[in-house]
Amino acid sequence: MVVCGPDEAVEKHTHAIAKLKSGREVRFVDPRRFGRLSVTHGFRAPGSEPLRIDAGRFVDLFRGRKTPIKSALLNQKLLSGVGNIYADESLFRAGIRPRRRAASLTRENLRRLHGTVKEVLEEAIALGGSSVSDYVDADGEEGFFQLQHRVYGRQGEPCLVCKTPVKRVVIAGRSSHYCPQCQK
Ligand SMILES: [Zn+2]
Repeated sequence: MVVCGPDEAVEKHTHAIAKLKSGREVRFVDPRRFGRLSVTHGFRAPGSEPLRIDAGRFVDLFRGRKTPIKSALLNQKLLSGVGNIYADESLFRAGIRPRRRAASLTRENLRRLHGTVKEVLEEAIALGGSSVSDYVDADGEEGFFQLQHRVYGRQGEPCLVCKTPVKRVVIAGRSSHYCPQCQK
């Protein structure tokens, strides 16, 4: 979502433009087509807000699920707004492999993951949002959270903790990155 003046050139992959009272525009730019836009009244996201949910509720959301924990983290019906990069980074910090079944994680594993999800999201917000190279924030500035990535996009490069090469696998169609040594 980009907010800009009406005179600015319309970028490629702009799928919708909403005019604001101020005369500026909100533009929905989605080159990778993962986004959805709908017009609704009284919208409520179906998932829990990851920065507000407490550890107990977080544990309950994931306990007993047979899907890989990575897929569960990306499931917007469980948690809202945890994207692919944030999920990989949170799992790395928690020492959990993305393919682990959620049901195989202990209460303690999930409590640790709750902490790292919050930590990663808070860092991303403080740094201006995460980024792939074609992503810009609302002012058109490139996000720079990517400089802090510890595993995402680092396949083949040494783990920052143990120097083992970072692995990349595809889980439910999304690329996932992890350290085979640090994450169990
Ligand atoms: Zn490692």
